[in-house]
Amino acid sequence: TGRLQVKNLSYRYPGSNRPVDALCQIQLKIEPGQKVALLGPNGAGKSTLIHHLCGLIIPQSGEVRIDDLSLTRDTAREIRRHVGLVFQDPDDQLFCGTVAEDVAFGPQNLGLPEEEVEKRVESALAAVQGLDLARYAPHQLSYGQKKRVAIAGVLAMDPDILILDEPMAYLDPQGQDEVMQILQDCNCRGKTIIMAIHDIDLAESWADRVIILQDGALLADGGTEILENEK
Ligand code: ADP
Ligand code: ADP
Repeated sequence: TGRLQVKNLSYRYPGSNRPVDALCQIQLKIEPGQKVALLGPNGAGKSTLIHHLCGLIIPQSGEVRIDDLSLTRDTAREIRRHVGLVFQDPDDQLFCGTVAEDVAFGPQNLGLPEEEVEKRVESALAAVQGLDLARYAPHQLSYGQKKRVAIAGVLAMDPDILILDEPMAYLDPQGQDEVMQILQDCNCRGKTIIMAIHDIDLAESWADRVIILQDGALLADGGTEILENEK
């Protein structure tokens, strides 16, 4: 499973001069297996929302739930097993000597036996067409290859929900197609996919649900038809 619920979520950054209200009373329910595109201008609150959904920020006010588990300081670690985040910049995520070590890091951290870790690394790299990259150092890879390896690192944790922050940014059209295909395959295998995305046409062709944030509030939530107003 992996039903995600956001209830009355608000979040305020202290800020250096004055506080910033990054999220205001957000309400959401995301069902298992959905493909959700998260849109909104810079500063709308997309990153802040995403960081809540994967347990990197603990709610100040309101609630984030996955199934029966409510996100608190005590449950954040468990939540992060269900929800994997692919950062916008793969260099923020890849820090081991080789690709194989990087992809192994998550499952090793879960305390899985070495045999299971190896299985997970292999199937995660296969899922991103990256088996041939295993022995490379991350800095030897192209940007698109790094992106795929970063996705593999999250898939190796086998999360129910995969969240990606602007996965298409800085990729050439071929790289974008590759990532789209990977996400499509993951979705077919039952994973919920949530991605922050700028490109309205890509969002329209890929998503089955669209959430638009503006100034920290939910501006729209529905099928891709709501994007007609945004063009
Ligand atoms: P988006 O991802 O849609 O660009 P963010 O969630 O990054 O939006 O930002 C929402 C608002 O919160 C913006 O006004 C941003 O400047 C502010 N903000 C984000 N992170 C911080 C932070 N660490 N400290 C203070 N303000 C922040
Ligand atoms: P994104 O491109 O994902 O929207 P941002 O450019 O909003 O990311 O933010 C990049 C980083 O800077 C994040 O870690 C965010 O928390 C931080 N940040 C964003 N806005 C502010 C701010 N006004 N004050 C301090 N930190 C901020």
